[in-house]
Amino acid sequence: MVMEKLGDSLQGALKKLIGAGRIDERTVNEVVKDIQRALLQADVNVKLVMGMSQRIKERALKEDPPAGMNPREHVIRIVYQELMDIIGKGAEIQLKPQTIMMVGLQGSGKTTSAAKLARYFQRKGLKAGVVAADTFRPGAYHQLKTLSEKLNVGFYGEEGNPDAVEITRHGLKALDKYDIKIVDTAGRHALEADLIDEMERIHAVAKPDHKFMVLDAGIGQQASQQAHAFNDSVGITGVIITKLDGTAKGGGALSAVSETKAPIAFIGVGETPEDFEKFEADRFISRLLGMGDLKSLMEKAEESLSEEDVNVEALMQGRFTLKDMYKQLEAMNKMGPLKQIMSMLPMGMGGMGGMKFSDEMFQATSDKMKNYKVIMDSMTEEEMTDPRLIGGSRIKRISRGSGCSPEEVRELLKYHKTMQTALKGFRGGKFNIQKMMKKK
Ligand code: GDP
Repeated sequence: MVMEKLGDSLQGALKKLIGAGRIDERTVNEVVKDIQRALLQADVNVKLVMGMSQRIKERALKEDPPAGMNPREHVIRIVYQELMDIIGKGAEIQLKPQTIMMVGLQGSGKTTSAAKLARYFQRKGLKAGVVAADTFRPGAYHQLKTLSEKLNVGFYGEEGNPDAVEITRHGLKALDKYDIKIVDTAGRHALEADLIDEMERIHAVAKPDHKFMVLDAGIGQQASQQAHAFNDSVGITGVIITKLDGTAKGGGALSAVSETKAPIAFIGVGETPEDFEKFEADRFISRLLGMGDLKSLMEKAEESLSEEDVNVEALMQGRFTLKDMYKQLEAMNKMGPLKQIMSMLPMGMGGMGGMKFSDEMFQATSDKMKNYKVIMDSMTEEEMTDPRLIGGSRIKRISRGSGCSPEEVRELLKYHKTMQTALKGFRGGKFNIQKMMKKK
């Protein structure tokens, strides 16, 4: 799990509020002290922690809880909002042709992230390729080449050429037909003048639309110095924080982000290409705070169904495209573990006609849903809108792009059809999903 220790400590602190009839100063002080300790242990910048805890204290005592909210929820909401303030909303990733330059120190996970990023765009239907301009680290060329081949993304490199600027120039030309061009640059062991100089020269040649700084979550407070140095030299437009899966110190990287004002774009949560997520602050913080209880699930459900997420009207008219299904899976992801969502649904849906779901069955369903999303990421906009277009050759292409078998693609299409038919049956007000989710 991502930042498990911090999550546990924060949730532990908030547990103290369970059953608290009202919020008095002593309870708030105690909880805020625990939160402070949790954040400092995770290496969040001291100044940020102090400012934040002061604000939590003041707000918890001064602000009236919104109607219907108990004291614990009131404080959780404030902590959530204050954390959002530090971490920021996350970068907006535009799905259009662009050049991205990767910067970061050696070992930060830059090369791996370059390939994962190319794969991300490729799955969204954009042709993506990487340029191997890390001429400093021996092995970087081969590593990126092998990864690109494995992930099925474009690659350009010149083995043995030490001139990173020249490789960048050639590479961008060679990848001219690609929508997304990602330049992997060299890192050093530490911030050195020649590294900064090289970054600036590559920057001048590549004229990138985005400069993503890759930060190893494990470096803690040093993140700040790095972020400033890279920001001053090329101007950072987004941050990729890697290795959040294996560190108790991710708070350092998170606070560095707050200092540079460059939003977090992606997070690396493991070594495999799948362990790479577009950063969504609200989901991230909800997970940290363990906001998986029924009430927040309900609120989430309301939000996600009433916003543009799911087109309820079209749905009720029986127009349920793969895009709707994708959004539905995403909304489910936002809400929390499948088990909790299923248990919220009335009998007959969640309970499958009264039959109890075992943990293994939930897990199997969850895994399948994840797989469905991966497959859909390899489909085009056109196919998502009109799945009838997907015949044998398209199934093959989608299967190759997603790394899943053609049988799995067919299974997804079948699942979609079943859902579509089932939803048509609900038409005519017999079953109002929106109303059902809002019921408290
Ligand atoms: P570079 O020198 O910055 O190009 O670093 P690499 O891309 O070679 O990454 C260094 C090491 O970190 C490799 O062993 C990667 O597999 C590993 N790595 C990268 N991202 C992650 C991540 O998100 N989680 C974990 N656990 N390991 C990662």
